[in-house]
Amino acid sequence: MTIRPIIAVPDPRLKQVSEPVEAVTDALRLLMDDMVETMHDAKGIGLAAIQIGVNKRVIVMDLSPSDHGDEGESSDRYDLSELKDETIRYFVNPEIVWTSEEMNNYQEGCLSVPGFFDDVERPKACKVTYLDYHGQPQELDCDGLLATCIQHEMDHLNGVVFLDHLSRLKRDMIVKKLRKQSKDTNVVEPL
Ligand code: ZN
Repeated sequence: MTIRPIIAVPDPRLKQVSEPVEAVTDALRLLMDDMVETMHDAKGIGLAAIQIGVNKRVIVMDLSPSDHGDEGESSDRYDLSELKDETIRYFVNPEIVWTSEEMNNYQEGCLSVPGFFDDVERPKACKVTYLDYHGQPQELDCDGLLATCIQHEMDHLNGVVFLDHLSRLKRDMIVKKLRKQSKDTNVVEPL
């Protein structure tokens, strides 16, 4: 498995709509393995393929409570104590087929928007269909953090980042700071 570099806003690739996967092959499983390793290394709880520059409708997620997590789509910002049975999840060609009318607010972060967090309102629950790691069709009822996370990652597949849910003023301010940060990392060793 390989840790791949994560791309950040304002990289234009994050605005691409990702392509459906034709078949779950060994090559795709290798990609998913790399995504999990990259996500764990970055202390994230979710990652879409486009965040490592791969234009495919693939998401990995790990909401299991562990010692990983102080950055990005990060685990220590949320109460994960009720998610003891959670494990690594793989979503290929996911589709949200139902969302609740009830809404929920989470303070979201993103591995592609390093260092910034803000409240985003989304449906509290949703139902998602997808292919799993073995290419088998699955259906999952999501609630709470799982529902927020899958909707956040689905957004990535459609070229949307959580900043796009904020006011234009806030978004412009954050993008400006990120643009400056990415320039600075050319001269300063990134953390
Ligand atoms: Zn994200």
